[in-house]
Amino acid sequence: MEKSKPIQVALIGNPNTGKTSLFNQLTGLNQKVGNYPGITVDKKQGACKLLNNQTAIITDLPGTYSINPTSVDESIVLKSLLTTEDKNYPDVIVVVADIENLKRNLFLFSQVKDLEIPIILAINMSDQLDRKGISIDVETLKKELKTETILISARKNEGIDKVKMAIENCAEISKAHPLCSINHKIDEDYFERLKAVSTNHTLYELWLMVTQNNIPDSLSEIEKQKLIEFRQDVSKLKRYQHKETIHRYQQINEILKRTYIVDRSKAKDLRAKLDRVFTHKIFGYVIFFGILLLIFQSIFDWASTPMDLIDSAFANLSTLIKGELTPGILTNLIADGIIPGIGGVVIFIPQIAILFLFVAILEETGYMSRVVFLMDKIMRRYGMSGKSVIPLISGTACAIPAVMATRTISGWKERLITILVTPFTTCSARLPVYAILISLVIPDKKLFGYFSLQGFTLLSLYALGFATAIVSAFLLHKIIKVKSASFFVAEMPNYKIPSLKNVVFNVIEKTKAFVLGAGKIILAISIVLWFLASNGPASYKNVEKDNIENTANANLLAEELQQKIAGLKLEKSYIGIMGKAIEPVIKPLGYDWKIGIALISSFAAREVFVGTLATIYSVESGTDNTSTIKEKMRVEVNPETGQKTFTLPVGMSLLIFYAFAMQCVGTLAVVKRETKSWKWPLAQLFGMGILAYAAAFVTFTIFS
Ligand code: GDP
Ligand code: MG
Repeated sequence: MEKSKPIQVALIGNPNTGKTSLFNQLTGLNQKVGNYPGITVDKKQGACKLLNNQTAIITDLPGTYSINPTSVDESIVLKSLLTTEDKNYPDVIVVVADIENLKRNLFLFSQVKDLEIPIILAINMSDQLDRKGISIDVETLKKELKTETILISARKNEGIDKVKMAIENCAEISKAHPLCSINHKIDEDYFERLKAVSTNHTLYELWLMVTQNNIPDSLSEIEKQKLIEFRQDVSKLKRYQHKETIHRYQQINEILKRTYIVDRSKAKDLRAKLDRVFTHKIFGYVIFFGILLLIFQSIFDWASTPMDLIDSAFANLSTLIKGELTPGILTNLIADGIIPGIGGVVIFIPQIAILFLFVAILEETGYMSRVVFLMDKIMRRYGMSGKSVIPLISGTACAIPAVMATRTISGWKERLITILVTPFTTCSARLPVYAILISLVIPDKKLFGYFSLQGFTLLSLYALGFATAIVSAFLLHKIIKVKSASFFVAEMPNYKIPSLKNVVFNVIEKTKAFVLGAGKIILAISIVLWFLASNGPASYKNVEKDNIENTANANLLAEELQQKIAGLKLEKSYIGIMGKAIEPVIKPLGYDWKIGIALISSFAAREVFVGTLATIYSVESGTDNTSTIKEKMRVEVNPETGQKTFTLPVGMSLLIFYAFAMQCVGTLAVVKRETKSWKWPLAQLFGMGILAYAAAFVTFTIFS
């Protein structure tokens, strides 16, 4: 390099690594701010007196994460690197990294390095090493990266002279050795052909021209034509770019393993202080359960209004359609089958969206990684991962979003086990069933004069759900033989303010996945159940006529007569026949055919149990005032034994049955979706069904 000609230096780096700070240190007051041609991005340049009195012109390029640009700012960097004839084309590039995000910084570095321009790596913020508990083996890094590597602090003006010296000696910096030889690792043949296009450019430059569609005018027409040909197969380009990214990260990880140590236990920054609180042996759990409490409180509070609105909107729509369309099968199908079916899907959206809103925020802020770290040891004993905590607890709202929340679990076995046991947690659909059964059969007494026995029963059912989930996870852990490479990466991201865009996208994406995935199956089953409940053999068809003509019914009000007819119709329908057919099977559990009907129809969703019983008991309700469903159930008598149907043994047996049985098509549908096979949902259906049956039988026998 001639003494007289200033050295052109470009500063490249991720945003916030301290490029501008270094630029200021190097140039002092000799700066001027211009404009890049045609765009309104500042072009900052300044002169720097080197130690041997030579001058360097420093350009502070916009921050970028890679040289595959996604914005105007970033494309400036690409342009500066590919326009070799430009007067500011760098003689040497200083890549500015910072000690904390070295991995991400080195990705950009490795790309720039492969352009084979002389390069210096300046790792900034060395003043923070101790506070962050980081140590870097610069000598080894220098060798591994085949690059002059300097630890600096732009803020404290440390290492700046070394950077100046390195710039001075840039002519001696060897250009060769791309860091990541993409050609050997991806497709030797393909890259040989690419390399042959032009001798004036390095392979990586050509590769960028092709992938970024940024072909400089300096190339000859033939060369341009050849590069355009490479652009024909876009899917191949995408594939190879993807492979390139993976190779780069693999290589960087290898290098950093040997040269970069973070010992967060020695760190003293704010993040370390927060970490110490959030992962504390006691406070960590207290805070976590506090946050959970808050989340579930909000889910129930916020979701109930929209859910009621959705519920009544769909009911009104059904009524409206029945009134507007001519009566007939098609109208019934729409009003009683399809619309309630769609309603049954839409009604879950508020809970799903709210849950995922919280999960997304916890993840975005970085808090979730601390929870995972905290819970991992415990959960691992049961064959799950720290990340299983969220699905298991989300299950108290609804198993559907909970199963979807297992996606963050990286090991397949841990994820599968979590999916399989999550439906044991007491979901909100079980709550109405529990509530009515408890109020029917559990005496309204106080334990030790203070705790309500009914409340205690409800709490026990929740505890039973969690305990069963944990125990079955443990058993599945021993039984399931699935190969899965699960490794716990103790890498925790920094805390940050969540990005609204990420959070909103996350919520929309997951809600959409539910509606399109599970929704279809829920809808289909609802229609099948509707058909079975509203159709039947000849006796079904006569119910209406017989009852209207029957003089015994003359004293009933019109509404009461309608209720009675509805109940009788349900009894004579296919589903009623099925209920009677399964009576022998469920008799040992203490149930009659009416409960059988409710069991079958609650297969679409558990909470249907209450509604179905309400319909079916309308049959017996005479003119007396026992109109609430609870009252109807209380007075219900088994005609064979002459005893009340809902005794303590029956009630307890039903509670246990509902605690264990997999009565939720929606969950089965998402499990099918998430495991991509019918094997696991069927295993769940039968496994949980058998357990429910056995447990209900034992319960009934004990309490009888
Ligand atoms: P740029 O986005 O790469 O241009 O980065 P800036 O130069 O604007 O710096 C980003 C932030 O890092 C600013 O808050 C700087 O004060 C800070 N910073 C820059 N250099 C250092 C350093 O050596 N040590 C510390 N602790 N902070 C620095
Ligand atoms: Mg800047």
